[in-house]
Amino acid sequence: MDPIYNFCAGPAMLPVPVLTKAQSEMRDWQGLGVSVMEVSHRSPEFIAMANKAEADLRELMHIPDNYHVLFMHGGGRGQFSAVVNNFLGNDGRACYWVSGQWSQAAAAEAVALVGNENIDIIPIVEECDGLNTVVLPKCDEQQQYRYLHYCPNETVDGIEIFDEINCPWPVVADMSSTILSRQIDVSRYGLIYAGAQKNIGPSGLAIVIVRDDMLALPAMTQSAIMDYRLARDNDSMYNTPPTYAWYLAGEVFAWLKALGGVAAIEAVNSEKAKRLYACIEAHALYRNTVAHNNRSHMNVTFELSDDSLNDLFLQQAQARGLVALKGHRLVGGMRASIYNAMPLAGVDALTQFMTEFAKAR
Ligand SMILES: *Cc1c(COP(=O)(O)O)cnc(C)c1O
Repeated sequence: MDPIYNFCAGPAMLPVPVLTKAQSEMRDWQGLGVSVMEVSHRSPEFIAMANKAEADLRELMHIPDNYHVLFMHGGGRGQFSAVVNNFLGNDGRACYWVSGQWSQAAAAEAVALVGNENIDIIPIVEECDGLNTVVLPKCDEQQQYRYLHYCPNETVDGIEIFDEINCPWPVVADMSSTILSRQIDVSRYGLIYAGAQKNIGPSGLAIVIVRDDMLALPAMTQSAIMDYRLARDNDSMYNTPPTYAWYLAGEVFAWLKALGGVAAIEAVNSEKAKRLYACIEAHALYRNTVAHNNRSHMNVTFELSDDSLNDLFLQQAQARGLVALKGHRLVGGMRASIYNAMPLAGVDALTQFMTEFAKAR
């Protein structure tokens, strides 16, 4: 059977060795004779696994000791409200930079919770020479924001912000689709969160990396399971955590460590993106509308100059085992998501198909 390369934006493909290992231990985890899904999260075996997953993530991302790592429920979107509820109290204000669909959605949820007057929304994408370009705004030092929220990789729009952010307020970043894809300096952030289903594991789980002093900010009344302080005080086990997702995330972290860690995967990811954008540039049939410096290394969006070829493109790609290339329903066109688990061979198969398809027109 020819390999299937799955370019889905999320839930996305998982590393094959991780799935193979999970399959082999499905009925008998650690010699217990039962699946990891069937053991208590309070058991020594589960707690040891959970601690190792956290330790591996800390090592992969060089997370400093004054940061807590929380394994939470509710995916990426769950954190849209959690951030507001945990940090804004009754009178706090925050700033949201909007660079695409996801940061827009985060800002909208913040406004819904605390009102327009407490949330300042700043669009940061401009059109320059027909290309969507991120222009980072100057920070207004007079403002007393509890945090600045932004999204370094816009999964739908294919826009990535590679610059580090300099501003006087703690930075909160939605890294759902970029976490672990390249090296970052965690110490520059007040909080990082990520839904798991792009670069970590199964959907439903969210990873939160939060600086200790942020947890002194006044919270609003909120549901216990989204309270960062309760999560910290209970080692992310205030209630039953998503145990299988936690286990698979741990397996993904171990796989990434064995590959050489984030620096090693970053090199592969850059090469994948370089080859795919080069292919798009090489053929008039394809077009990407993002400025070169902001082209996402994880979600490569492109359009066909002739829309009527979209269905044929998708059909023929599918027949070659290249699946889930259809763009997001809100923006149309095509999108190839090439997260950590996508091998270079998958991108080469895609560029070869795209080249043949363009030449046949
Ligand atoms: C996928 C994604 C989300 C939403 O994640 P859910 O787990 O579906 O809530 C939020 N932000 C970004 C940047 C994403 O890519």
